[in-house]
Amino acid sequence: MKIYTFCQNTFCNKKFYLNNFARTRNDLYTTFGTEVNVTCPHCQSNSNYHVHRFSAEISNEGGHVKNGGIGVLIGGLVGAIAGPAGILFGASIGGGIGGGASYKNEKDEVSRFNNSRIA
Ligand SMILES: [Zn+2]
Repeated sequence: MKIYTFCQNTFCNKKFYLNNFARTRNDLYTTFGTEVNVTCPHCQSNSNYHVHRFSAEISNEGGHVKNGGIGVLIGGLVGAIAGPAGILFGASIGGGIGGGASYKNEKDEVSRFNNSRIA
């Protein structure tokens, strides 16, 4: 998941990403307060952005593929311990954890972030 906003400088107004690992809007709020001080990487203007100005989006497909790779690795390890039957079993578990499940979780996280509001 990536968090982005649009530059407040009307001459710039470009989209940029927040270099932060907040998972929810409340994470942002507890880390920074209601205003986050950020510098636009395009025009270097520094401003305070209200936490409601940030939105989340899903990380690129590259991240998804990389997660799938981790899942396969987990499956392989289980297989090595449990023998040939375990390889099939392990690979399907690993693929599920690393691929579809994390992608779905990320989608849920993105919609949770975008639908949330700080009181
Ligand atoms: Zn800018």
